[in-house]
Amino acid sequence: MSPTSSLTPTAVVFDLGKVLLEFDYGIVARRLAAHSGRDAEQIRGLLDQSSLLFRFESGGMTNDEFFREVSAVSGYTGGFDEFADIFGDIFTAIHSMIELHAQLHARGVPTFIFSNTNDLAVRHIRVNFPFFSGFTDYIYSHEAGMMKPDHRIYEIVEHRTGRTGAMLLYIDDRLENVEAGASRGWRVVHHQTPEQTIAAVRAMGLL
Ligand SMILES: [Mg+2]
Repeated sequence: MSPTSSLTPTAVVFDLGKVLLEFDYGIVARRLAAHSGRDAEQIRGLLDQSSLLFRFESGGMTNDEFFREVSAVSGYTGGFDEFADIFGDIFTAIHSMIELHAQLHARGVPTFIFSNTNDLAVRHIRVNFPFFSGFTDYIYSHEAGMMKPDHRIYEIVEHRTGRTGAMLLYIDDRLENVEAGASRGWRVVHHQTPEQTIAAVRAMGLL
């Protein structure tokens, strides 16, 4: 254990996708393809090239609007509940990072989720991943109405955490996101492997 100092952040902000949970939208394309009889790669291309997911995760579409538009482009003919399962069930746990969160939580370090995400994903994750209930607060793009790395959503994080600058440690796998945090004076870890991230958190005196 390292002694804490004035340089030790007092809260940790976690990105979700590819930091705490792995995800694969290819799974969505394959499942939609199984329903529509269309080619999964073609559906994947339609989803990737469309602005649908961006609009959904920016808070610009309701669940029902997203459901209707994806159904239209993919040929999906099933109902909403099954669609919600198809879109939600794409996540797998990254156990070593979930354990890192558990250790911080056990030490009383406030922890926050800061994610570009959507309501279907959050509903699914809440039900299926117990660790997810253990954060102090949650800042979601679809609720904020803007996505990382828009600087305004970082201001929301500062407001909700009650912290600024080097009091915050932020972990994200996307370089443009961590750079936006670093430009505000936040301590950052560009997440690439759990081993490197855990070592960096330890070096800051949080473990
Ligand atoms: Mg991510």
